[in-house]
Amino acid sequence: MLFDLGTPIGDTKAPRGPIETRWDRRRFEARLVNPAGRRRLTVIVVGTGLAGASAAATLGEAGYRVRSYCFQDSPRRAHSIAAQGGINAAKNYRNDGDSVHRLFHDTVKGGDFRSRESNVHRLAQVSVEIIDQCVAQGVPFAREYGGLLDNRSFGGAQVSRTFYARGQTGQQLLLGAYQALERQVAAGSVAAFTRHEMLDLVVVDGRARGIVVRDLVTGTVTTDLADAVVLATGGYGNVFFLSTNAKGCNVTATWRAHRRGALFANPCFTQIHPTCIPQSGPHQSKLTLMSESLRNDGRVWVPLRAGDGRAPGDIPEAERDYYLERLYPSFGNLVPRDIASRAAKSVCDEGRGVGATNQHGAAAGLGVYLDFADAIGRLGRSGVAARYGNLFEMYQRITGEDPYEVPMRIYPAVHYTMGGLWVDYDLQSTVPGLFVIGEANFSDHGANRLGASALMQGLADGYFVLPNTISDYLAEGPFPALDPTHPEVAAARAEVTGRVARLLSVDGDRTVDSFHRELGRVMWEHCGMERTDAGLREAVGEIRSLREQFWTRVRVPGGGDGLNQSLERAGRVADFLELAELMCVDALHRTESCGGHFRAESQTPDGEALRDDECFSYVAAWEWTGGAPVLHREPLEFEHVTPSQRSYK
Ligand SMILES: Cc1cc2nc3c(=O)[nH]c(=O)nc-3n(C[C@H](O)[C@H](O)[C@H](O)COP(=O)(O)OP(=O)(O)OC[C@H]3O[C@@H](n4cnc5c(N)ncnc54)[C@H](O)[C@@H]3O)c2cc1C
Repeated sequence: MLFDLGTPIGDTKAPRGPIETRWDRRRFEARLVNPAGRRRLTVIVVGTGLAGASAAATLGEAGYRVRSYCFQDSPRRAHSIAAQGGINAAKNYRNDGDSVHRLFHDTVKGGDFRSRESNVHRLAQVSVEIIDQCVAQGVPFAREYGGLLDNRSFGGAQVSRTFYARGQTGQQLLLGAYQALERQVAAGSVAAFTRHEMLDLVVVDGRARGIVVRDLVTGTVTTDLADAVVLATGGYGNVFFLSTNAKGCNVTATWRAHRRGALFANPCFTQIHPTCIPQSGPHQSKLTLMSESLRNDGRVWVPLRAGDGRAPGDIPEAERDYYLERLYPSFGNLVPRDIASRAAKSVCDEGRGVGATNQHGAAAGLGVYLDFADAIGRLGRSGVAARYGNLFEMYQRITGEDPYEVPMRIYPAVHYTMGGLWVDYDLQSTVPGLFVIGEANFSDHGANRLGASALMQGLADGYFVLPNTISDYLAEGPFPALDPTHPEVAAARAEVTGRVARLLSVDGDRTVDSFHRELGRVMWEHCGMERTDAGLREAVGEIRSLREQFWTRVRVPGGGDGLNQSLERAGRVADFLELAELMCVDALHRTESCGGHFRAESQTPDGEALRDDECFSYVAAWEWTGGAPVLHREPLEFEHVTPSQRSYK
């Protein structure tokens, strides 16, 4: 038996009643902490991406004592800085029919009806406040000729609601959040610790009371104690080894919290982004995203004929297949990511892929064209450059091909993880006092996230949601004082020290990366764009044997009392090896297809994902036991959006 069935779980915090007023009601009902009380309460925030930086800055501004952690050398290096395309908000500046309700509706539908209505509605409501907040901070969003904020379209929407700063939206937003954070550091309300990695959660009397951290420069392992802990530690897409995520992204913080009692929800819901630069060789260790915004003007096509080896310019219009426009006429090139990714895979499976690419040793031709010839004809080269200049430059530097002259080649790659720690409406996990925000929680995106919605969610959580909900928990504090000698605190620290020593002592014959690369191959093959019962079972076996080998054969050079990046990576890969099995078990048990989770056994006659609402309209929240994980199901209720077969035709 790969898992056991546990009792159902419910979100008890979301108010009932009209969906438009639920957030107001929760804010009113949540207990408050008065300003003097806040000065006596300490909150640890792990992570300084958009979610963590905005939360730490806002909590500091509110008067709490905040301790902010990240493993990079500066909070500004969080992975959020890489976000390119934009951030959604239901401002309806374009007067094209957008509204809070439409953003809510698009997001629930885009997520293939596997998210909570209450959460998604709140996200859509708060989205409009985010833009005002960021503009007030000076974030240089793109503007139209008349000076108003500009918008563009992203997948899964027929309106233009994406605010952007060229192809550097994440960077500009993070600079805004970072300056707010630094202001609090200067004011003394936030203490910032860079180059510190959280390696465990401290739970005392059933409450999250602190973290165990390793100073990555000196190797010293210490504990930090507080009244509440917030994890804003990002996603775990790097379990696949190759992804668009920054190389440092990992699952350790959330996985360690999972092992301490926090349920992990929907781990198999992974987003495979359709527009990435194809892998060019077997030694590559990173994939690069080409922003979804490019699909506003780029047209996706492959040759009509399989095995057509002609250069793109030599293939006449009549012999091209603009397959997204053909298959999904009402959304065309702007279908959601899961749909565009599967369509690319399927034309490549037919032998119509382009370019001599080689992903995990597969045959040539894993790529499709993203062609700007029409857009250049319409807007001119300078018009296209104004919109996407830095993306074009990046593409040219990586591939050596000029996308103004020849179409880009793109292929799907792992990009985002919808799964994460289970949280209630207050963003609190199943461990009291442990809150989880941004990509680290199981989020509001169901089985598929719409483009430009991650930045929206991270900033909604950090600036607007968490600061209002955490007070309800902190109103019970301050909690009894603890010190590092407390038996449970000391035990957590000893466990971390022991694990570091164990990693160093194996002294085997294989590098950490060789394990990671092999794990990535197993995950991509069996838990990637298409999953089957047989493949997932095979993957579980392979992951188990890989994990066993890891602990007997891994070689971590160097020691533990200083900077040692092999050691850092070894700890992260050890956690990926445990997470990977849970992802496969989750994917195996969900015999339906939905969003990014495509089970080959569950498809419509024309190859679209076939959901099974009768059996799987729930969030799968997994409990760690050390043996077979236990599944707790949170039923999903739909009162405002009716689940239907998603159609973008
Ligand atoms: C290339 C790319 C482009 C993207 N473009 C867009 C876009 O245009 N629009 C959009 O909406 N989304 C986009 N996304 C998704 C979006 O960028 C992320 O989902 C989002 O930035 C995540 O933010 P976060 O704050 O949750 O986490 P992150 O930004 O990943 O930050 C995680 C933080 O946690 C810290 N951390 C992690 N583990 C530990 C630990 N154990 N100890 C201490 N610190 C730790 C890190 O140091 C870091 O500070 C893009 C993603 C990629 C990969």
